[in-house]
Amino acid sequence: MRVVGGIHLVDETFANVYLIERGEKLFLIDAGLPGEYEKVLKYIEKLGYVPEDVETIIVTHAHYDHVGSLKDLKDATGAKVAAHKDEIPYLTGEKKFRREIEPVEVEIELNDGKEIEGLRVIHSPGHTPGSICLLDLETKALFVGDLVMEENGKLKEIPHHYSLDPMKNREAIKKLLDVDFVHLLPGHGRPILDEGKEKVRELVERF
Ligand SMILES: [Zn+2]
Repeated sequence: MRVVGGIHLVDETFANVYLIERGEKLFLIDAGLPGEYEKVLKYIEKLGYVPEDVETIIVTHAHYDHVGSLKDLKDATGAKVAAHKDEIPYLTGEKKFRREIEPVEVEIELNDGKEIEGLRVIHSPGHTPGSICLLDLETKALFVGDLVMEENGKLKEIPHHYSLDPMKNREAIKKLLDVDFVHLLPGHGRPILDEGKEKVRELVERF
């Protein structure tokens, strides 16, 4: 499904996988559950691309439902993997969250404020140490990973037991009020077009 500009949401994955068309190249944000790489590859073909057109896979955080297919997608596309430096140990297998993933090499280390392919990295720790949001400077769409989730048109926090430090996560949500974005693209739930900032403000007022 096309979301906005060159941003697509791959159909029917458990955690959202976003595909960005940038000129001739493609970028992925997150990779879905183990086995879901097939859905991603099918979507790429449907758009008229080949897997090798994927240049980089950017990881919002290293939870199983977001990176379960990362190794398979990296192998199928030859793409580089980019992640925040505090999340890299969880991708390479040095550290582990509750559910293990297949270790993968990370070529691009991200830090707060760094830009990658027109996306600005916003370090948003709490859910995991190296969770990031990504602001697309062209469309003002903000990819938030599991910082917040959407349900029935409203934003919610991810249930606290899934986050390493829910209060730190809350602080990171509040900081979004200072970010210049319009659309909010969560890891779980539907994208919120136009009203992203208002929805974050409503959530923060409920804290
Ligand atoms: Zn998560």
